[in-house]
Amino acid sequence: MDSINILIVEDEQRLADILKKQLNESGFNAEIAYDGYVGKQLAEKNIYNLIILDINLPLLNGYDLCKEIRKTNSNIPIIMLTAFSTPDNKIAGFDAGADDYVVKPVDFRELLARINVFIKRSNSNILNRKICISDLEMDLDTKTVTRANKKIDLTAKESLLLETFLKNKGKLLTREFIIEQVWGIEFDPSTNIIDVYVNYLRKKIDKDFEPKLIHTKFGFGFYCNETEI
Ligand code: CA
Repeated sequence: MDSINILIVEDEQRLADILKKQLNESGFNAEIAYDGYVGKQLAEKNIYNLIILDINLPLLNGYDLCKEIRKTNSNIPIIMLTAFSTPDNKIAGFDAGADDYVVKPVDFRELLARINVFIKRSNSNILNRKICISDLEMDLDTKTVTRANKKIDLTAKESLLLETFLKNKGKLLTREFIIEQVWGIEFDPSTNIIDVYVNYLRKKIDKDFEPKLIHTKFGFGFYCNETEI
């Protein structure tokens, strides 16, 4: 089985470091973000099997970060760390999209037991390796793409292009960035290969569907979103 990647978003450095060490010792790959903004960036960029999320965080709090993550990833298990065990706090966490919570001070055995429940569950469901936007879904393991439950066949480059768009949903991507992700840095960004491939992709995933997901921002590049930004 592949390694299991866990993201810890926690600004108390000592706690974050201890959790990382303990998770590593338990056989997981753990990575830390010390603030909500970095947490958001990592969660968008990388594929994690589970996220451990503190609530009081600099730049972006745990509730808001959880909501952000849920916009693009409805499957990933999120365990919130809370200093408060009042029902209000727990409900706020669940409302934001958390699956579970652990009250601070963190009992590592309890946290580990909860993590294992989710990992077992996700192993049987192959969770967390799918990216969705609107009714389009891409399975990152099999590269299967469906829109409105209809299977869409993509070439390798189209698939990589779509994956690049989906992983950067809502962000304006420059031609340079797309070239680097899909064709490699040695490619000349002034060629029209991107336009050609974006058109191929649009024909397959957007032409017969609504809403359109791939948009052009003239003079800047492209972005993927349910609505125009
Ligand atoms: Ca905190």
